[in-house]
Amino acid sequence: MKFYSTNHTISPTDLLTVLTRGLAPDGGLFIPAKIPTLSKKFLKALDKQSLIDIGHTIAREFLAGIPTVKLKSILQDSLNFPIPLRQLDKNLFVLELFHGPTLAFKDVGARFLARLLSYYLQQTNQTINIIVATSGDTGSAVASGFYKVPGVHVYILYPHKRVSRLQEQQLTTYGNNIHAFAIKGSFDDCQRLAKALLNNPKLQTKKNLSSANSINFGRLLPQSFYYFHAIAELHRLGIFESPVVVVPSGNFGNLVAGLMAKKMGLPIKQFIAATNRNNVVPQFLKTGKFKPRPSHQTISNAMDVGNPSNFARLVELYKHSLLAIRRDIIGTSISEALTKQTIKKIYQHYNYTIDPHTAVGIAAAWHYQKQRGTSHPIVVLSTAHPAKFKDTLEPILHQKISLPSALKQVLKKKKHVLLLPANEQIVQQQLLN
Ligand SMILES: *Cc1c(COP(=O)(O)O)cnc(C)c1O
Repeated sequence: MKFYSTNHTISPTDLLTVLTRGLAPDGGLFIPAKIPTLSKKFLKALDKQSLIDIGHTIAREFLAGIPTVKLKSILQDSLNFPIPLRQLDKNLFVLELFHGPTLAFKDVGARFLARLLSYYLQQTNQTINIIVATSGDTGSAVASGFYKVPGVHVYILYPHKRVSRLQEQQLTTYGNNIHAFAIKGSFDDCQRLAKALLNNPKLQTKKNLSSANSINFGRLLPQSFYYFHAIAELHRLGIFESPVVVVPSGNFGNLVAGLMAKKMGLPIKQFIAATNRNNVVPQFLKTGKFKPRPSHQTISNAMDVGNPSNFARLVELYKHSLLAIRRDIIGTSISEALTKQTIKKIYQHYNYTIDPHTAVGIAAAWHYQKQRGTSHPIVVLSTAHPAKFKDTLEPILHQKISLPSALKQVLKKKKHVLLLPANEQIVQQQLLN
């Protein structure tokens, strides 16, 4: 499988380059030259296949040359937690993607990327240093995913005193090959430093640097698996109608993974791209104009994105045809007030606690049902465990939310962290040590 850049100015390249570079050298995003169509036989028998089986069939199409036994073990290590489909109503389902070690769907992509990268690095006797700037969640999924993975060191840059206590514990208590730098500055400072380090040619040759955010295709591929798994679960319940799938979106990596699944032949009627008030993509769907702007802060903070990085992939998948994009994707932007109301209603009606990101998705599903009726099955992707957003949810629900035992353990662990100024020279020195 060859990959090209959405900027179209480099020649097609191989997977190892895609995984190690993250971003294409011309500044575009890597995208597969051809999305394979899966066999009718496979699609008909989804209900007989586990998530690992599904992942294996799909991954094989993209990752030729990797031995079957190795691929199976990468899949088993990455997807070592359940992804249940919970039925709320006759036609409303929630796919719980948050049972991984850091309690958000980002575990799926980060764990798979880490293991795949480690395999290729061992084949070529390389080591790699990953730099990741984080406002909280991405860093913990990447740290957990890459912890003790051979051949990889991870450097996490996070803003000092600007992440939650739980997040800080999740970032700083690994040790071993995970190095946490608390930067005296904002998230933007961290991102600026990470970019400067990644673009520093001297450092690049000395340390073989890479990035692990959602521009890396290695994170998107495994996210397509659970769309197939959701349909398999519906089939097991005797539901064969193609569902509408709601994706709570920020950088739009998760949605792009779903669009790829549909291109591979998965019967999905339509996607709803659900955003908070950061509605650049819903606005694009309405007006045909893509206008990035600075983000607003909301309670669904992992979706506070004003310039979604995967937009280039989204339009490329449809050869820039607005008509075709509109056929497959509906955009819905949900206000802060409606998000809170949805959290409350879901708790009252179903005795079920959802996090703010999932609430944006459910509010978008209800909006769809109001306009078009309730006769189609709808699957909402649930992207984070409610306990991660305890401080936001408790005042809305007037209810205590208990931490899962894994998180309680993290709070007791000792921190390993270096406090550094937002200065490229000084951070660079630490990387070289
Ligand atoms: C990252 C994240 C999202 C947004 O996912 P994208 O792939 O960036 O669109 C939604 N919910 C949660 C909890 C997240 O951490």
